[in-house]
Amino acid sequence: MIQVSRPSIGVEEIREIEKVFSTGWLGLGSTVYDFEKELQNFIGASNIIAVNTGTSALHIALEAYGIGPGDEVIVPALTFCASIQVITALGAHPVFCEIKPETLNVDVTDIENRISSRTRAIMPVHYCGQACDMDSLFQAIGKRDINIIEDAAHAFGSSYKGKRIGSFGDATCFSFDPIKNLTCGEGGAIALSNRLIAEKIRVKRILGIDKDTWHRYKNERAWFYEVTTQGYRYHMSNISAAIGIAQFKKLDAFISRKKEIVRRYNCAFSTIDGLRVLNWNLKETAPFTYIVRVLGGRRNALIDFLKNKGVGTGIHYIPNHLHPFFKEFATPLPITEKTGEEILTLPLYYEMTDDQVSIVIDSVLEFFKP
Ligand SMILES: *Cc1c(COP(=O)(O)O)cnc(C)c1O
Repeated sequence: MIQVSRPSIGVEEIREIEKVFSTGWLGLGSTVYDFEKELQNFIGASNIIAVNTGTSALHIALEAYGIGPGDEVIVPALTFCASIQVITALGAHPVFCEIKPETLNVDVTDIENRISSRTRAIMPVHYCGQACDMDSLFQAIGKRDINIIEDAAHAFGSSYKGKRIGSFGDATCFSFDPIKNLTCGEGGAIALSNRLIAEKIRVKRILGIDKDTWHRYKNERAWFYEVTTQGYRYHMSNISAAIGIAQFKKLDAFISRKKEIVRRYNCAFSTIDGLRVLNWNLKETAPFTYIVRVLGGRRNALIDFLKNKGVGTGIHYIPNHLHPFFKEFATPLPITEKTGEEILTLPLYYEMTDDQVSIVIDSVLEFFKP
C-alpha cells in the first residue's frame, strides 16, 4: 500500500536526540532555544515561541490577543477540527466562512460579508501550503480592531509575495506534527512581531510562570517564582526540538522533491475531464498535501478503486459545520459543502519513489478511462 503521507526520519534525528539524552535535561531548555533561533533565522520573524503542538500554538495565540467568551472568530469550515476547537475552548464563536474551490483557501469577499461588531479575529488557513490572499484580507479589515491569527500548519517553508509566511501579520501558527512539512514528532510554534504579545505567549506556554520575576529574585531567593496569568503546559521539550533541528537540515530536499511530485501529478491530471487540479503557485509554496477535486459524484468510487490498486488516499477535511459538536455554529455553506464532497488527497511525501508516483498516476488515469 502506498501511504498518503509519512514522515522522513532517520539516524540524524536519533543522533540529535542522543545529544539531549547525554545532557540529562529532557524538558524545556537550550535545545528548544536553539531550535527557536533556527526558526527565527529561517522565517525572519522577530519573535518565535516553540510549543508542544500546532493546536496549542493557535490556542495561546488567540488567548494572548484577548479572544474570549462572546467574541467572534471567522474561520473556514474546511480545515482541520483543531482550528475550531481552539476557538470554542475559549468560549468564542466560530463564524464559518467559504473557500475558493480552486485553491481551497478562504474567500475574502465572503469573509467581508461575515464581519460584525463582535468579530475580534480572523483565522485564515494556508491550505496545502499555499498562502491565502493576505493583501485582500488586510484590506478587508481596514482599521478595525481585528487580529489575524494565521493557521499555517500546512505552510511551513512557504512564502507570500516574496515574504516568508510568519514574517508578517499578527500571529502565525505552525505545526510540526508527524506528517507536516517539518516534524518534531509533535510540536508547534508561533511567529509574531509584537514583542509584548510574544512575552505573554512565552509565559502562557509554561503554566503562567513568569521567568522575569524568577530572574529578578534569583540571587536572593533562588526558589522564587510567580504565576502571573492563565497558562498551560504547552512548552516544547528538548527531545522534540532535537528532532526539529535534524529535520531542518533536510528541509530544502523535502520541499524540492515534493514540488517535483506535484508537478508530475499536475501534468498527468490536468487533462482528465472528471478531475480538477488545484491552482498551484509552486514558486512560493512548500507543498504539504496533494488534493484534487473529483467531479460528477465519483469521489468515493475513486477511493475504492485506488484502494484496490494499493494506493492510499485521504479526505482533508470534512467541513466542520457538519460535525455534531460544531452544529450550533452551522450556517449554509454551499461551496464548502460541494467542495467537501469532491476533495481527495493523494499520496505525497519525500521518500515516494518515481515508480510509486507512476502507480498513483496510472491508477487514476485507468479509473477515468472512457
Ligand atoms: C495539523 C493541523 C493543526 C494542528 O496541529 P497539531 O500540531 O496537529 O496540533 C491545525 N490546523 C491545521 C489546518 C492542521 O493541518
